[in-house]
Amino acid sequence: MPAYDPDNIFAKLLRGEIPSTRVYEDDETLAFMDIMPRADGHLLVIPKTPCRNLLDASPAQIAAVMQTVQKLSHAVIKGLGADGVTVQQFNEAAGGQEVFHLHMHVLPRKEGDRLRPPG
Ligand code: 5GP
Repeated sequence: MPAYDPDNIFAKLLRGEIPSTRVYEDDETLAFMDIMPRADGHLLVIPKTPCRNLLDASPAQIAAVMQTVQKLSHAVIKGLGADGVTVQQFNEAAGGQEVFHLHMHVLPRKEGDRLRPPG
């Protein structure tokens, strides 16, 4: 697996070098709006420490990211009136990953809706 690239888009976003709409932050994780949302309220959750994807993640990074995913899943149900939440995560280009800093997609869902296509 290739090494972590410290100049990937989410690393730049973490350093504040590119803008983002941040919605949640704690010591270990950051959540922000996806720039091309596939559902209303589409969020991304990332660890603050370097990590290429799930294959590269420590148990502590996985635990921290998943705790934030759970917290924000409850928040979108309560705050946005979502009926459910789809959580997605891609690993390496062959697995659909485009940005090589670990991230989980949190997609608020409405009964009977469809996710918009990527891009
Ligand atoms: P994946 O790597 O999971 O396939 O997709 C990366 C996700 O990051 C996509 O949903 C894409 O819309 C999102 N994304 C790519 N570049 C940016 C960016 O500069 N800012 C934000 N907020 N999201 C981005």
